[in-house]
Amino acid sequence: MTQNKILLPGSKLGVMGAGQLARMFALEAITSGYEVHVFSPERNSPAFGVGAKETVAEYENREKLLSFLKNINALTFEFENIPEAALSVIEEFSGKSSLNVFPSPNCIRIAQNRWKEKNAFRNAGIPTVNFYPVFTEEDKNTVASKVQYPCILKTNTMGYDGKGQIKCKTKEELISALSSLKELNHIVEEFFSFTSEASVILARFENGKILNFRPSENIHKNHILDLTFHPGNFSDEIQDRLVFYATKLAETIDYIGVFGIEFFIKDDQILCNEFAPRPHNSGHFSQNSGGLSQFDLQLKTLCNLPAPEKITSNPVTMKNILGEDYKPDSPLWNRALSDPEYRLHLYGKSEARPGRKMGHWNYSGPNPQTAFQDWE
Ligand code: ADP
Ligand code: MG
Repeated sequence: MTQNKILLPGSKLGVMGAGQLARMFALEAITSGYEVHVFSPERNSPAFGVGAKETVAEYENREKLLSFLKNINALTFEFENIPEAALSVIEEFSGKSSLNVFPSPNCIRIAQNRWKEKNAFRNAGIPTVNFYPVFTEEDKNTVASKVQYPCILKTNTMGYDGKGQIKCKTKEELISALSSLKELNHIVEEFFSFTSEASVILARFENGKILNFRPSENIHKNHILDLTFHPGNFSDEIQDRLVFYATKLAETIDYIGVFGIEFFIKDDQILCNEFAPRPHNSGHFSQNSGGLSQFDLQLKTLCNLPAPEKITSNPVTMKNILGEDYKPDSPLWNRALSDPEYRLHLYGKSEARPGRKMGHWNYSGPNPQTAFQDWE
Protein backbone atom coordinates (compact mmCIF):
# COMPACT_ATOMS: atom_id res chain seq x y z
CA MET A 1 0.00 0.00 0.00
CA THR A 2 1.30 3.44 -0.82
CA GLN A 3 1.90 5.82 2.03
CA ASN A 4 -0.55 8.72 1.97
CA LYS A 5 1.10 12.09 1.83
CA ILE A 6 0.89 14.00 5.11
CA LEU A 7 0.99 17.77 4.76
CA LEU A 8 2.44 19.44 7.83
CA PRO A 9 1.86 23.02 9.03
CA GLY A 10 3.62 25.45 6.73
CA SER A 11 2.19 23.68 3.67
CA LYS A 12 0.23 25.76 1.19
CA LEU A 13 -3.42 24.83 0.79
CA GLY A 14 -5.40 26.09 -2.21
CA VAL A 15 -9.14 26.66 -2.33
CA MET A 16 -11.21 27.16 -5.47
CA GLY A 17 -13.66 29.90 -4.50
CA ALA A 18 -13.41 32.52 -1.79
CA GLY A 19 -16.87 32.83 -0.26
CA GLN A 20 -17.83 32.21 3.36
CA LEU A 21 -16.96 28.51 3.23
CA ALA A 22 -13.44 29.30 2.05
CA ARG A 23 -13.23 32.00 4.72
CA MET A 24 -14.16 29.63 7.55
CA PHE A 25 -11.79 26.97 6.21
CA ALA A 26 -8.98 29.53 5.93
CA LEU A 27 -9.50 30.72 9.50
CA GLU A 28 -9.24 27.12 10.73
CA ALA A 29 -6.24 26.21 8.59
CA ILE A 30 -4.31 29.41 9.35
CA THR A 31 -4.90 28.88 13.09
CA SER A 32 -3.28 25.47 12.64
CA GLY A 33 -0.23 26.95 10.92
CA TYR A 34 -1.05 26.42 7.25
CA GLU A 35 -0.83 28.95 4.45
CA VAL A 36 -4.09 29.30 2.52
CA HIS A 37 -4.34 30.47 -1.08
CA VAL A 38 -7.77 31.24 -2.53
CA PHE A 39 -8.74 31.56 -6.20
CA SER A 40 -11.78 33.65 -7.03
CA PRO A 41 -13.14 35.60 -9.99
CA GLU A 42 -14.54 38.20 -7.60
CA ARG A 43 -12.80 41.00 -5.77
CA ASN A 44 -13.70 41.63 -2.12
CA SER A 45 -14.63 38.01 -1.47
CA PRO A 46 -15.35 36.89 2.13
CA ALA A 47 -12.12 34.85 2.29
CA PHE A 48 -10.06 37.94 1.45
CA GLY A 49 -8.63 39.80 4.40
CA VAL A 50 -8.53 36.87 6.83
CA GLY A 51 -4.93 36.03 6.06
CA ALA A 52 -5.37 33.98 2.88
CA LYS A 53 -3.30 34.84 -0.21
CA GLU A 54 -5.58 35.90 -3.04
CA THR A 55 -5.63 35.23 -6.77
CA VAL A 56 -8.34 37.15 -8.61
CA ALA A 57 -8.97 35.70 -12.07
CA GLU A 58 -11.66 33.96 -14.08
CA TYR A 59 -11.77 30.21 -13.47
CA GLU A 60 -11.20 29.70 -17.21
CA ASN A 61 -7.94 31.69 -17.12
CA ARG A 62 -5.61 28.74 -17.74
CA GLU A 63 -2.39 30.67 -17.19
CA LYS A 64 -3.47 32.16 -13.84
CA LEU A 65 -4.91 28.84 -12.70
CA LEU A 66 -1.72 26.96 -13.57
CA SER A 67 0.49 29.41 -11.73
CA PHE A 68 -1.88 29.15 -8.72
CA LEU A 69 -1.67 25.34 -8.80
CA LYS A 70 2.14 25.34 -9.12
CA ASN A 71 2.41 27.28 -5.89
CA ILE A 72 0.30 25.03 -3.60
CA ASN A 73 0.67 21.57 -2.01
CA ALA A 74 -3.02 20.57 -1.99
CA LEU A 75 -6.28 21.82 -3.45
CA THR A 76 -9.85 21.75 -2.24
CA PHE A 77 -13.12 23.43 -3.26
CA GLU A 78 -15.54 25.71 -1.49
CA PHE A 79 -18.26 25.23 -4.07
CA GLU A 80 -19.14 22.97 -6.96
CA ASN A 81 -19.98 25.37 -9.76
CA ILE A 82 -16.48 25.41 -11.21
CA PRO A 83 -16.47 25.41 -15.04
CA GLU A 84 -15.37 22.23 -16.79
CA ALA A 85 -12.47 24.13 -18.40
CA ALA A 86 -10.99 24.72 -14.94
CA LEU A 87 -11.69 21.20 -13.72
CA SER A 88 -9.84 19.69 -16.65
CA VAL A 89 -6.82 21.97 -16.07
CA ILE A 90 -6.80 20.87 -12.43
CA GLU A 91 -7.13 17.21 -13.36
CA GLU A 92 -4.36 17.40 -15.95
CA PHE A 93 -2.04 19.27 -13.57
CA SER A 94 -2.62 16.95 -10.62
CA GLY A 95 -2.05 13.93 -12.88
CA LYS A 96 1.43 15.21 -13.68
CA SER A 97 2.37 16.49 -10.23
CA SER A 98 2.00 15.26 -6.67
CA LEU A 99 -0.75 17.76 -5.88
CA ASN A 100 -3.49 16.33 -3.64
CA VAL A 101 -6.88 17.39 -5.04
CA PHE A 102 -9.63 16.41 -2.59
CA PRO A 103 -12.40 15.85 -3.56
CA SER A 104 -11.47 14.72 -7.07
CA PRO A 105 -12.68 16.76 -10.08
CA ASN A 106 -14.86 13.78 -10.93
CA CYS A 107 -16.78 14.09 -7.67
CA ILE A 108 -17.24 17.81 -8.40
CA ARG A 109 -18.59 16.96 -11.86
CA ILE A 110 -21.19 14.66 -10.29
CA ALA A 111 -22.28 17.19 -7.67
CA GLN A 112 -22.60 20.11 -10.10
CA ASN A 113 -25.01 18.28 -12.39
CA ARG A 114 -28.37 17.16 -10.96
CA TRP A 115 -28.77 14.46 -13.60
CA LYS A 116 -25.37 12.89 -12.84
CA GLU A 117 -25.91 13.34 -9.12
CA LYS A 118 -29.26 11.57 -9.03
CA ASN A 119 -27.92 8.78 -11.24
CA ALA A 120 -24.99 8.40 -8.83
CA PHE A 121 -27.53 7.97 -5.99
CA ARG A 122 -29.37 5.32 -8.02
CA ASN A 123 -26.16 3.49 -8.87
CA ALA A 124 -25.26 3.46 -5.19
CA GLY A 125 -28.68 2.04 -4.27
CA ILE A 126 -29.75 5.27 -2.55
CA PRO A 127 -33.45 6.08 -3.04
CA THR A 128 -34.23 9.45 -4.64
CA VAL A 129 -37.26 11.19 -6.17
CA ASN A 130 -38.34 10.14 -9.67
CA PHE A 131 -36.59 12.40 -12.17
CA TYR A 132 -36.61 12.91 -15.93
CA PRO A 133 -34.22 14.65 -18.31
CA VAL A 134 -35.08 17.68 -20.42
CA PHE A 135 -32.02 17.51 -22.65
CA THR A 136 -33.57 17.23 -26.12
CA GLU A 137 -36.61 18.65 -27.92
CA GLU A 138 -38.14 15.19 -27.72
CA ASP A 139 -37.68 15.10 -23.92
CA LYS A 140 -39.32 18.51 -23.77
CA ASN A 141 -42.34 17.29 -25.74
CA THR A 142 -42.83 14.04 -23.83
CA VAL A 143 -41.83 14.68 -20.21
CA ALA A 144 -45.17 16.20 -19.20
CA SER A 145 -46.97 12.92 -19.87
CA LYS A 146 -44.41 10.83 -17.97
CA VAL A 147 -44.08 12.68 -14.67
CA GLN A 148 -46.49 12.60 -11.71
CA TYR A 149 -47.79 15.89 -10.29
CA PRO A 150 -46.91 18.11 -8.52
CA CYS A 151 -43.39 18.29 -9.91
CA ILE A 152 -40.48 20.73 -10.04
CA LEU A 153 -38.66 21.85 -13.15
CA LYS A 154 -35.01 22.53 -12.18
CA THR A 155 -31.97 23.76 -14.03
CA ASN A 156 -29.60 20.82 -14.37
CA THR A 157 -26.54 22.87 -13.48
CA MET A 158 -25.69 26.08 -11.55
CA GLY A 159 -28.69 25.90 -9.19
CA TYR A 160 -28.42 26.87 -5.53
CA ASP A 161 -30.72 28.20 -2.78
CA GLY A 162 -33.77 27.22 -4.84
CA LYS A 163 -32.68 29.32 -7.84
CA GLY A 164 -33.75 28.02 -11.25
CA GLN A 165 -36.69 25.97 -9.89
CA ILE A 166 -40.34 26.14 -10.97
CA LYS A 167 -42.95 24.13 -9.08
CA CYS A 168 -45.76 22.87 -11.33
CA LYS A 169 -49.01 21.54 -9.87
CA THR A 170 -50.52 20.36 -13.14
CA LYS A 171 -49.54 19.15 -16.60
CA GLU A 172 -50.65 22.50 -18.05
CA GLU A 173 -48.34 24.36 -15.67
CA LEU A 174 -45.39 22.18 -16.62
CA ILE A 175 -46.07 22.57 -20.34
CA SER A 176 -46.20 26.31 -19.91
CA ALA A 177 -43.00 26.35 -17.80
CA LEU A 178 -41.23 24.19 -20.40
CA SER A 179 -42.28 26.48 -23.23
CA SER A 180 -40.76 29.47 -21.43
CA LEU A 181 -37.32 27.82 -21.15
CA LYS A 182 -34.53 29.66 -22.95
CA GLU A 183 -32.36 26.53 -23.09
CA LEU A 184 -32.62 22.78 -22.59
CA ASN A 185 -30.39 21.21 -19.87
CA HIS A 186 -33.10 20.91 -17.20
CA ILE A 187 -34.58 18.06 -15.23
CA VAL A 188 -38.11 17.46 -13.95
CA GLU A 189 -38.42 15.97 -10.48
CA GLU A 190 -41.54 14.68 -8.78
CA PHE A 191 -42.47 16.66 -5.70
CA PHE A 192 -42.20 14.69 -2.46
CA SER A 193 -44.37 15.95 0.40
CA PHE A 194 -41.88 15.28 3.16
CA THR A 195 -42.52 15.91 6.82
CA SER A 196 -38.88 16.73 7.56
CA GLU A 197 -35.55 17.40 5.92
CA ALA A 198 -32.28 15.99 7.23
CA SER A 199 -28.61 16.24 6.40
CA VAL A 200 -25.46 14.36 7.29
CA ILE A 201 -21.98 15.86 7.30
CA LEU A 202 -19.43 13.21 6.47
CA ALA A 203 -15.64 13.16 6.08
CA ARG A 204 -13.77 10.42 4.24
CA PHE A 205 -9.99 10.11 4.38
CA GLU A 206 -7.64 8.90 1.67
CA ASN A 207 -7.25 5.57 3.50
CA GLY A 208 -11.02 5.04 3.43
CA LYS A 209 -11.66 5.98 7.06
CA ILE A 210 -15.04 7.67 7.52
CA LEU A 211 -16.20 10.05 10.24
CA ASN A 212 -19.65 11.55 10.39
CA PHE A 213 -21.76 13.77 12.59
CA ARG A 214 -25.14 12.58 13.75
CA PRO A 215 -27.86 13.67 11.30
CA SER A 216 -29.33 17.16 11.69
CA GLU A 217 -32.82 18.42 10.96
CA ASN A 218 -33.14 21.38 8.60
CA ILE A 219 -35.91 23.92 8.10
CA HIS A 220 -35.91 25.89 4.84
CA LYS A 221 -37.64 29.20 4.24
CA ASN A 222 -38.20 30.26 0.61
CA HIS A 223 -35.93 27.36 -0.42
CA ILE A 224 -33.04 28.74 1.65
CA LEU A 225 -31.82 27.05 4.81
CA ASP A 226 -33.16 28.89 7.87
CA LEU A 227 -32.55 26.61 10.86
CA THR A 228 -30.53 23.49 11.61
CA PHE A 229 -31.22 21.46 14.74
CA HIS A 230 -28.33 19.22 15.70
CA PRO A 231 -28.84 16.40 16.35
CA GLY A 232 -32.18 16.02 14.56
CA ASN A 233 -35.06 14.41 16.38
CA PHE A 234 -35.08 11.14 14.42
CA SER A 235 -35.46 7.53 15.52
CA ASP A 236 -32.28 5.47 15.76
CA GLU A 237 -33.42 3.46 12.77
CA ILE A 238 -33.83 6.58 10.59
CA GLN A 239 -30.49 7.97 11.79
CA ASP A 240 -28.74 4.71 10.92
CA ARG A 241 -30.21 4.67 7.44
CA LEU A 242 -29.26 8.30 6.80
CA VAL A 243 -25.67 7.56 7.80
CA PHE A 244 -25.71 4.33 5.79
CA TYR A 245 -26.75 6.21 2.62
CA ALA A 246 -24.16 8.96 3.19
CA THR A 247 -21.44 6.33 3.65
CA LYS A 248 -22.62 4.40 0.61
CA LEU A 249 -22.35 7.49 -1.60
CA ALA A 250 -18.87 8.38 -0.31
CA GLU A 251 -17.59 4.87 -0.97
CA THR A 252 -19.28 4.41 -4.34
CA ILE A 253 -17.85 7.60 -5.85
CA ASP A 254 -14.55 7.28 -3.93
CA TYR A 255 -15.04 10.66 -2.28
CA ILE A 256 -12.19 12.15 -0.27
CA GLY A 257 -12.90 15.21 1.88
CA VAL A 258 -16.02 16.56 3.58
CA PHE A 259 -19.52 16.58 2.12
CA GLY A 260 -23.03 17.47 3.21
CA ILE A 261 -25.86 15.28 1.95
CA GLU A 262 -29.54 16.26 2.15
CA PHE A 263 -32.57 14.01 2.56
CA PHE A 264 -36.37 14.21 2.59
CA ILE A 265 -38.20 12.10 5.19
CA LYS A 266 -41.84 11.05 5.50
CA ASP A 267 -42.70 8.37 8.08
CA ASP A 268 -40.19 5.60 7.41
CA GLN A 269 -39.49 6.68 3.84
CA ILE A 270 -36.20 8.42 3.09
CA LEU A 271 -35.30 9.98 -0.26
CA CYS A 272 -31.96 11.58 -0.97
CA ASN A 273 -32.23 15.09 -2.42
CA GLU A 274 -28.69 16.23 -3.19
CA PHE A 275 -25.14 16.47 -1.88
CA ALA A 276 -22.62 19.28 -1.75
CA PRO A 277 -18.94 18.33 -2.25
CA ARG A 278 -17.66 20.58 0.54
CA PRO A 279 -18.60 21.74 4.03
CA HIS A 280 -22.28 22.55 4.09
CA ASN A 281 -24.39 25.33 5.56
CA SER A 282 -26.23 22.71 7.65
CA GLY A 283 -22.85 21.72 9.17
CA HIS A 284 -22.07 25.13 10.66
CA PHE A 285 -23.40 23.91 14.03
CA SER A 286 -20.13 21.97 14.32
CA GLN A 287 -18.18 25.18 14.97
CA ASN A 288 -19.71 25.30 18.46
CA SER A 289 -20.66 21.69 19.20
CA GLY A 290 -17.66 21.06 21.42
CA GLY A 291 -15.50 18.89 19.16
CA LEU A 292 -14.07 19.00 15.66
CA SER A 293 -15.84 21.28 13.18
CA GLN A 294 -16.56 20.42 9.56
CA PHE A 295 -13.73 22.81 8.62
CA ASP A 296 -11.31 20.95 10.92
CA LEU A 297 -12.32 17.80 9.10
CA GLN A 298 -11.80 19.43 5.72
CA LEU A 299 -8.27 20.31 6.84
CA LYS A 300 -7.61 16.84 8.25
CA THR A 301 -8.81 15.00 5.15
CA LEU A 302 -6.92 17.36 2.83
CA CYS A 303 -3.65 16.97 4.75
CA ASN A 304 -4.05 13.35 5.92
CA LEU A 305 -3.76 14.40 9.55
CA PRO A 306 -4.52 12.12 12.51
CA ALA A 307 -8.19 11.99 13.46
CA PRO A 308 -10.20 10.50 16.32
CA GLU A 309 -12.04 7.19 16.02
CA LYS A 310 -15.44 8.87 16.33
CA ILE A 311 -16.88 12.36 16.26
CA THR A 312 -18.75 13.62 19.27
CA SER A 313 -20.97 16.70 19.22
CA ASN A 314 -23.15 18.54 21.71
CA PRO A 315 -26.57 19.87 20.69
CA VAL A 316 -26.49 23.14 18.74
CA THR A 317 -29.17 25.08 16.88
CA MET A 318 -27.95 27.13 13.92
CA LYS A 319 -29.85 30.05 12.42
CA ASN A 320 -28.82 31.69 9.17
CA ILE A 321 -28.62 35.46 8.91
CA LEU A 322 -29.84 36.63 5.51
CA GLY A 323 -29.52 40.23 4.30
CA GLU A 324 -32.98 41.11 5.60
CA ASP A 325 -32.11 39.70 9.07
CA TYR A 326 -28.80 41.55 9.37
CA LYS A 327 -29.46 43.83 12.36
CA PRO A 328 -26.33 44.78 14.29
CA ASP A 329 -27.10 46.93 17.32
CA SER A 330 -30.79 45.93 17.40
CA PRO A 331 -32.30 44.94 20.79
CA LEU A 332 -32.58 41.35 19.49
CA TRP A 333 -28.90 41.08 18.55
CA ASN A 334 -27.72 42.86 21.65
CA ARG A 335 -29.69 40.49 23.85
CA ALA A 336 -28.21 37.46 22.07
CA LEU A 337 -24.69 38.93 22.17
CA SER A 338 -24.94 39.40 25.91
CA ASP A 339 -25.66 35.68 26.29
CA PRO A 340 -22.58 33.43 25.88
CA GLU A 341 -24.79 30.60 24.62
CA TYR A 342 -25.37 32.49 21.35
CA ARG A 343 -22.29 32.67 19.12
CA LEU A 344 -22.24 35.03 16.13
CA HIS A 345 -20.38 34.15 12.92
CA LEU A 346 -20.28 36.82 10.21
CA TYR A 347 -18.82 36.50 6.73
CA GLY A 348 -17.45 40.03 6.25
CA LYS A 349 -19.93 41.00 3.51
CA SER A 350 -20.59 44.72 3.42
CA GLU A 351 -23.78 44.78 1.36
CA ALA A 352 -26.78 43.17 3.08
CA ARG A 353 -28.97 42.29 0.09
CA PRO A 354 -32.20 40.34 0.73
CA GLY A 355 -31.61 36.59 0.54
CA ARG A 356 -27.81 36.98 0.77
CA LYS A 357 -26.16 34.82 3.43
CA MET A 358 -24.41 37.29 5.76
CA GLY A 359 -23.59 34.96 8.67
CA HIS A 360 -25.18 32.64 11.20
CA TRP A 361 -25.86 32.17 14.90
CA ASN A 362 -25.02 29.01 16.81
CA TYR A 363 -26.93 28.44 20.04
CA SER A 364 -25.58 25.82 22.43
CA GLY A 365 -27.66 26.33 25.59
CA PRO A 366 -30.43 24.33 27.28
CA ASN A 367 -33.31 25.37 24.94
CA PRO A 368 -32.32 24.17 21.47
CA GLN A 369 -35.92 23.97 20.23
CA THR A 370 -36.94 27.50 21.17
CA ALA A 371 -33.66 29.42 20.93
CA PHE A 372 -34.74 31.33 17.81
CA GLN A 373 -38.50 31.42 18.28
CA ASP A 374 -40.04 34.82 17.52
CA TRP A 375 -36.86 36.09 15.90
CA GLU A 376 -38.57 37.41 12.79
P1 ADP B 1 -30.70 23.84 -4.20
O1 ADP B 1 -29.62 23.26 -5.05
O2 ADP B 1 -31.17 25.16 -4.68
O3 ADP B 1 -30.42 23.72 -2.72
P2 ADP B 1 -32.65 21.74 -3.74
O4 ADP B 1 -32.95 20.68 -4.74
O5 ADP B 1 -31.96 21.33 -2.49
O6 ADP B 1 -31.93 22.89 -4.53
O7 ADP B 1 -34.03 22.47 -3.37
C1 ADP B 1 -34.13 23.43 -2.32
C2 ADP B 1 -35.29 23.04 -1.42
O8 ADP B 1 -36.52 22.98 -2.17
C3 ADP B 1 -35.16 21.67 -0.78
O9 ADP B 1 -34.36 21.70 0.39
C4 ADP B 1 -36.63 21.36 -0.48
O10 ADP B 1 -37.08 22.08 0.66
C5 ADP B 1 -37.34 21.90 -1.72
N1 ADP B 1 -37.40 20.84 -2.77
C6 ADP B 1 -36.55 20.66 -3.78
N2 ADP B 1 -36.87 19.57 -4.52
C7 ADP B 1 -37.96 19.03 -3.96
C8 ADP B 1 -38.79 17.88 -4.26
N3 ADP B 1 -38.54 17.09 -5.30
N4 ADP B 1 -39.83 17.62 -3.43
C9 ADP B 1 -40.09 18.43 -2.36
N5 ADP B 1 -39.37 19.53 -2.04
C10 ADP B 1 -38.31 19.84 -2.82
MG1 MG C 1 -30.28 22.03 -1.44
